[in-house]
Amino acid sequence: EAAYRRELVGSLIHDVPDFPKPGVVFKDITPLLASPHGFQAAVTELVTTAPRQIDIVVGMEARGFIFAAPVALALGAGFVPVRKPGKLPGETISESFELEYGFETLTMHRNAIPADARVLVVDDVLATGGTVGATAALLQQMGAELVHVSVVMELGFLGGRARLAEQGIDNFSAIL
Ligand code: AMP
Repeated sequence: EAAYRRELVGSLIHDVPDFPKPGVVFKDITPLLASPHGFQAAVTELVTTAPRQIDIVVGMEARGFIFAAPVALALGAGFVPVRKPGKLPGETISESFELEYGFETLTMHRNAIPADARVLVVDDVLATGGTVGATAALLQQMGAELVHVSVVMELGFLGGRARLAEQGIDNFSAIL
């Protein structure tokens, strides 16, 4: 059941201190992905917490793709990628946000999502919330309805959830 699945998922995400730079504890999901039961448990949790009638699941490059795609299939929804600049061949829209050093820009195909679509956003880790926040802004540009945001793991001490709330995103859940 859910508690067992969460415990399994947690046991398979490993802390890697000082990666990619000193002071950062990197959450390594590769042991989770390599475990058939673990990966399945994570996807099942994301699917069971999703609201009804999702049309599109949006995943962010690159680790968000890994979870968002199987969730989309399980929900009978489509999958739409959010990508770094220069990767999408069609006409794009973009949003930039501030990182610790410098800026990050995310893009989507301008016509990727119908204006009335109900959208679920899925990523691996919520840290500062900048990535999800920019994705929400992209969806707003398109007129799509962001119904829910789901992540595998939330780093609570970074205040990402509060940042999303300030942006009007209250429908958020994390497996861990
Ligand atoms: P943020 O925009 O700050 O919420 O960062 C979220 C994005 O960065 C996610 O797509 C994660 O894949 C990645 N990320 C940030 N911090 C970590 C971390 N400590 N461990 C693993 N991934 C992280």
